Amino acid sequence: MDDSIIGTCAECGSEFLKSKSKMEELCPECAYWLYGYENCKHIFKAGKCTICLWDGSKSDYIKSLSSEF
Ligand SMILES: [Zn+2]
Ligand SMILES: [Zn+2]
Repeated sequence: MDDSIIGTCAECGSEFLKSKSKMEELCPECAYWLYGYENCKHIFKAGKCTICLWDGSKSDYIKSLSSEF
């Protein structure tokens, strides 16, 4: 497995490191909100998570879910 493959999240449109997400098509953040998978403990530097490369994007749907808390 190549752990440096970068995908584009189908939900929020952010790039993410595929090896850090349980879902092929979703970043760890969206996989967490949509499917309850373990989220990345994002560490942001220069607008991107240094672990999974998520850029902080949230789809309207994820926003509506996460704002309930
Ligand atoms: Zn996403
Ligand atoms: Zn992350």
